[in-house]
Amino acid sequence: TRGLMTGKRGLIMGVANNRSIAWGIAKAAADAGAEIALTYQGDALKKRVEPLADQLGAIVAGHCDVTDPVSIDAVFKHLEEKWGKLDFIVHAVAFSDKDELTGRYVDTSSANFARTMDISCYSLTAVTQRAEKLMTDGGSILTLTYYGAEKVMPHYNVMGVAKAALEASVKYLAMDLGPQNIRVNAISAGPIKTLAASGIGDFRYILKWNEYNAPLRRSVTIEEVGDSALFLLSDLGRGVTGEIQHVDCGYNIVGMKAVDAPDI
Ligand code: NAD
Repeated sequence: TRGLMTGKRGLIMGVANNRSIAWGIAKAAADAGAEIALTYQGDALKKRVEPLADQLGAIVAGHCDVTDPVSIDAVFKHLEEKWGKLDFIVHAVAFSDKDELTGRYVDTSSANFARTMDISCYSLTAVTQRAEKLMTDGGSILTLTYYGAEKVMPHYNVMGVAKAALEASVKYLAMDLGPQNIRVNAISAGPIKTLAASGIGDFRYILKWNEYNAPLRRSVTIEEVGDSALFLLSDLGRGVTGEIQHVDCGYNIVGMKAVDAPDI
């Protein structure tokens, strides 16, 4: 991949620590020659993100909480002053109250429904509105989704509904921005043990089930998601937009439990 992203500058949102999917993508993009900016959510994560940014020679574009439009504007102002233009964005941001990532979807509260949709779905549109102005030579926008958007998964609940809306947003945004050669895609990653995933009830069970039943008989890594992201972020993916790309060791094609799968 060396040189694949040379000359490209991109913002990567959603690094919380070195297990974050956004970190896997940031490493892959930096290895391929991209210049990168990272944001962090609040002071607690600043301490974690700054040393990671140093490892990649990346810019830290500041605090960004997607529920606060002022903080989103500040990040884009920073990038406009620093770079003038932008070639790609990775949106790897999601949140829901963990008390509602267990039990029944039907019990979801109105307040958490709205908050989950705002942070995990609308924020892609909010970020795209700002990015469009800086993507003067075209661009590539990538978000992260999960199979729970398509099929009912235990405990994924309101997050599954938000991811379904996110996937629909990807398609509408792709249509709106296509004439400017701005592509919008999603990677539907298989389960990976991250901070966000640990909020999902019985996550270990979901992870094991995938390992035993995916065609590749293992779970996917952040490095593998990073490499697939490179295809969509770079010119290799120039003919692809509005796509939901599964990077899940093939789990999404499976119809039932594998005959060789042990009990969990
Ligand atoms: P993570 O905890 O490392 O990252 C989640 C990020 O979201 C964190 O950096 C956090 O700061 C950020 N975030 C949450 N609320 C925010 C807000 N209000 N403003 C700004 N940022 C906010 O976990 P991850 O698993 O790497 O998650 C990244 C993305 O990948 C999410 O969209 C998640 O749904 C998706 N995803 C994860 C898995 C998995 O199994 N881990 C599978 C498929 C998709």
